Amino acid sequence: MQKKILIIGTGLGGLSTALRLTSRGYEVEMVEQYHRAGGRLNLLEKDGFKFDMAPTFFSMSYEFQELVNDCNIRMPFEFVELDPLYSVHFEGDSRSYLIYKDLKKLALEFQHLEPDFEKKLHKFLKAAGQIFHDTEKIVIHQNFDSLAQYLLKLTTVPIKHAPKMFRSMWTEMEQNFESFEVKVIFSLVGFFLGATPFDTPAVYTLLNYTELVHDGYYNVKGGMYKIVEGLLRELENRGVKIHYNTEIVSFSEENGKIFWFTDRSGKEWKADQFVVNADAAGFRGGVLKRPAFSSEKLDVKKWTLAPLTIYLGLDTKVPEMYHHNYFLRRNFQEYAAKIFRNKIKLDKPYYYVNIQSMHNPGYAPPGKECIFILCPVPDLRYKPDWSDDQEIADGIIQDLGERTGFDFKKHTETRIVLNPEHWQNTFGLYRGSGLGLAHDLNQVGGFRPKNKDEKFSNLYYVGASTVPGTGLPMVVISSRLVTERILKDNGYLPEK
Ligand SMILES: Cc1cc2nc3c(=O)[nH]c(=O)nc-3n(C[C@H](O)[C@H](O)[C@H](O)COP(=O)(O)OP(=O)(O)OC[C@H]3O[C@@H](n4cnc5c(N)ncnc54)[C@H](O)[C@@H]3O)c2cc1C
Repeated sequence: MQKKILIIGTGLGGLSTALRLTSRGYEVEMVEQYHRAGGRLNLLEKDGFKFDMAPTFFSMSYEFQELVNDCNIRMPFEFVELDPLYSVHFEGDSRSYLIYKDLKKLALEFQHLEPDFEKKLHKFLKAAGQIFHDTEKIVIHQNFDSLAQYLLKLTTVPIKHAPKMFRSMWTEMEQNFESFEVKVIFSLVGFFLGATPFDTPAVYTLLNYTELVHDGYYNVKGGMYKIVEGLLRELENRGVKIHYNTEIVSFSEENGKIFWFTDRSGKEWKADQFVVNADAAGFRGGVLKRPAFSSEKLDVKKWTLAPLTIYLGLDTKVPEMYHHNYFLRRNFQEYAAKIFRNKIKLDKPYYYVNIQSMHNPGYAPPGKECIFILCPVPDLRYKPDWSDDQEIADGIIQDLGERTGFDFKKHTETRIVLNPEHWQNTFGLYRGSGLGLAHDLNQVGGFRPKNKDEKFSNLYYVGASTVPGTGLPMVVISSRLVTERILKDNGYLPEK
């Protein structure tokens, strides 16, 4: 008999899992607390402007290819490869640095700052590439049934990488480069993981390899939300029903299984099996009331940085900016050490600016522009009161204007500001943490919340806070791992 699976959440993790499971003949139904699908990969619309709400680019595009191959469909959206990948601006420095995927061009950008840069770059990237290839299949693409199995698997990673588990990404930069600018720019990948390079292990320099050598970064033609629209079209063709404005708040169990989940209105949702795309740790604590995931326990875990996001609709085009731009200062170490764990005033923040309508002209009315600004900030544990969010946004917009010579404030036609509280309330992100649980070595692999529930045999998890981790390609891999688990439990896969 065809089994019915209820998926809670329509983030990329939920949607990709629905696609994989319907490809195997399962009947899938989905519930979502927000009014639109996509989770963090969402869309905002205001006064004729559209904005990609959070992700603006992604790496490891081949994971999307694997998904569509697995489901026997054509790619429902079109990638656009970025080169240059992004620009970086330091306060007080009139020039900006362009991060090219073409390593010859990249070398020219930095040769005046760093003696023997090209040689050092190749040595650094070679080592980063080795970690990537030595761990990708072993750690990232695997389900682990127990911590022991995970630790055993880790012993097959060549021992030469061990020191990189114990030193920080910043230390790794210091061992490879002398120039402050080069060290800061190459350690930005730590921020992409939602942490700082001072508390991110050096093994994650593998991300320098994925961005500069392996596969680069991509946008989606027509905007990032085309990913969601494409997946939704496929799911609709397969008869998957999605119920919006439906937040799961409690459950009923019977004989070690979930019997049903209940939404806020009291409606019961039954199925044979359930996949939770909500935060795998937060849901276990908040809905399942597990003592091991109580807020006291979760608050001492390491969570990725929270976002303060600003969306501007401008009445004109912005001159001379790239698609993806980072605005940094010179107090990097001091800033990273303090800012995310203190209530100190956010008057000189670091931020990222994405000119969304540059590659997606349909996002803004003709002759106008839409801009996304992301500023990583402390989560709600460290800064619970965000009543000053508009003031902080004003400061960032003012700073951006001064550093680019373009008056963003004067040209703003419409604006939206989302603080960590919004992010928590809209998508259930724990304490407003943007990317979920951090990637400390004691929070990845066998240490991360599992994609199969500890207690209920018909309950599974997919998404950024379960295995393997956060970011769009990781979440697509997560959908493959949870599908493998479900198939195996249902007797469709032989034991490995
Ligand atoms: C500001 C920001 C910028 C980012 N930029 C990038 C980027 O450029 N590139 C990149 O690769 N990644 C980026 N990320 C990370 C990326 O967005 C996430 O890793 C990914 O989208 C997570 O997908 P998910 O399916 O795990 O979870 P989500 O997208 O969070 O989806 C979970 C869904 O479950 C729903 N839900 C939660 N609880 C319940 C409940 N109780 N009942 C019903 N529904 C529920 C939520 O509403 C949500 O729709 C960014 C994240 C943020 C916040």
